[in-house]
Amino acid sequence: MDANKTAFNLKTLENTAAALRRNRFEAQVHATGEGAAAAVLALAAGGKRVGLGGSMTVEALGLPGKLAAAGCAVVTHKPGMAPQERREVWLAAQAADLYLASPQAVTLDGKLVFVDANGNRGAAVIYGPRKIVLIAGVNKLARDQEAGLWRARNVAAIANNLRLKKDNPCVRTGRCEDCASPARICNAVTLLWKKPSQSDVLVLLVNEELGY
Ligand code: SF4
Repeated sequence: MDANKTAFNLKTLENTAAALRRNRFEAQVHATGEGAAAAVLALAAGGKRVGLGGSMTVEALGLPGKLAAAGCAVVTHKPGMAPQERREVWLAAQAADLYLASPQAVTLDGKLVFVDANGNRGAAVIYGPRKIVLIAGVNKLARDQEAGLWRARNVAAIANNLRLKKDNPCVRTGRCEDCASPARICNAVTLLWKKPSQSDVLVLLVNEELGY
C-alpha cells in the first residue's frame, strides 16, 4: 500500500485504540497481521483452551493451525455438525480460557458491532470466556454506530452470503434488502458500547485488510 495511506491508517487506528480505552477496553495497534497473531499466541501459551467465533480474520491470520501446533485445544464448530453437538461446542467455546472473534465494525468512538445468524458469538463476546480477544483489520473501521451497522449488512454480510453460498436477495442486488429469507444471516445485533463490567476484553487493531 502507498506509504502515506499506510501512515494515515496507522494514525486512525491509534485514535480508535484511544477511544476503545476510554470505553474501558484494552487495545493494541499492530502494523501487521503477523504481529497480532504473535500477540494471540503469547496469550494462549501453556496449552490454553481457545474458543473461536467463526472469523475470516482469525482464518486469514492462520490462527487455528498455529494454536493447534502450539498445543492449544481449539474449540470451534465444523460444517455438518448435528445441532446438539454444535450447541455443546458453542457452550464449551463460551467457557474457554481465551475466545477469538472479529467484529464486523469498530467505530471511531470505540464501539464494537457484531451481527450474527445464531448469536453464539454475540453471547461469548459479552460474557463467559476468561479473556476475549477481538481482532479487526483497518477495513473494519466505521465512522459511528450507524455506519458500523451499515457496513455489517452491506459489506460483511454480503461477502459472507457469497462465501456460504446463501441464496439471499443481497447476493443478487449487492445491498442489504432487510430480507425475510429463512436463510437470513443477520438476526442478532450485539453492540459493545463499553466493556461489560465483569469481562476481560482486548481489541487488536491491525493496519492490514483482514476478513470481511
Ligand atoms: S438481505 Fe438479508 S441476508 Fe442479506 S444482508 Fe440483508 S438481512 Fe442479511
